[in-house]
Amino acid sequence: MKARTKSSASSSRAASSAKREARPVEDSLFVRLGEHGHEQVSFASDADSGYRGIIAVHSTVLGPSLGGTRFWHYANLTDALRDVLRLSRAMTYKAAVAGLDLGGGKSVIIDDPTPKPREPIFRAHGRHIEYLGGRYITAQDVGTTPADMELVRRETRHVAGLPGKSGDPSPFTAYGVYRGMKACARHRWRDDSLAGKTVAVQGVGQVGYYLCRDLHQEGARLIVTDVVERKVQRVVQEFKARAVAPNEIYGVAADVFAPCALGGGINDTTLRKLKVEIVAGGANNQLAEERHGDQLEERGITYAPDYVINGGGLINVNAELAGWSSEQAHRKVGEIYDTILRVLTIAREEHIPSYTAADRLAEHRLAEATAHKLRPRGT
Ligand code: NAD
Repeated sequence: MKARTKSSASSSRAASSAKREARPVEDSLFVRLGEHGHEQVSFASDADSGYRGIIAVHSTVLGPSLGGTRFWHYANLTDALRDVLRLSRAMTYKAAVAGLDLGGGKSVIIDDPTPKPREPIFRAHGRHIEYLGGRYITAQDVGTTPADMELVRRETRHVAGLPGKSGDPSPFTAYGVYRGMKACARHRWRDDSLAGKTVAVQGVGQVGYYLCRDLHQEGARLIVTDVVERKVQRVVQEFKARAVAPNEIYGVAADVFAPCALGGGINDTTLRKLKVEIVAGGANNQLAEERHGDQLEERGITYAPDYVINGGGLINVNAELAGWSSEQAHRKVGEIYDTILRVLTIAREEHIPSYTAADRLAEHRLAEATAHKLRPRGT
């Protein structure tokens, strides 16, 4: 960071031994990092701009950590830290199952009620990223735009998702969800055609809209909902979808439920309403708690783990970093079909819920990479 930045501190495994008599607050921070094996967390502030940012690097075992920058109004530092730790770990798993040479990271910028100019804030964030020397690469996330990433770019080259580069990830995410849904159909019905099947789509924003397009092209019947009426009308008109109220979507008679709105949609209240055979959608953190994944299993519903099926956007960002053509990116996103089939096969053979099977797949790849890195040269 440049001199203007008031303070920055980073913690790493090496640093943990530096201070023998840690005070309780520091202890608890290191305990939290240790819980899920985070490698490093960096805090920085910039008094001039009001920037306060946290970058969490969960793992660089497979490659530099990648994950978006979230600009959010957090109630307190604990909430911000919890969010960045949880999200960075999820990125490690998402990249690992997608077969990418990327690790998991995430950053948050703490917003506050007083509006501030964006340029100094995002440039301070860029310097913070630069300070980590390429261990963390950022991209757009909730509360940030490609234009913000341009500002970050002025301070560091460790940023993806710039205007005119890989572009909007949503069509790629949706295509991956479509392919993953077909894999679920094959697993469930021995035939991956979705023609004539009814899919209930919750949320027809960016991902939901493109998913409806892909499903309509294949001849699926659509039932849709959104809290924004204009978005509903668009898919009703373009894809002959049937609209229902937001609270009705869980109980409709359909073959597949595709959550494409917010997280936590599969919970105690909604789970018992479901009449579908498959849950496969683009939303992050679909299970309110892990036990809801167990309950889907108990009810005989095939669940496509969210971070596996919605990895298309990340694959597209990786395409920008690796210099892939859009055809290569499209092909790689299509492979989500094979990954979902693998996950469901592991789950079936080992009698475990699919979300656990996905974690095992990711952890297996990470363990292999770790073993490889620890092996002495030439062996
Ligand atoms: P979006 O904001 O464009 O779409 C979400 C839609 O859900 C909006 O239209 C919103 O009005 C609607 N919605 C919100 N609450 C609802 C409710 N209770 N009932 C019905 N509809 C509701 O966001 P998006 O980019 O399409 O992302 C959708 C989900 O997919 C999010 O969970 C996101 O984290 C996840 N995701 C997106 C991408 C991507 O490439 N955009 C990648 C991976 C994961």
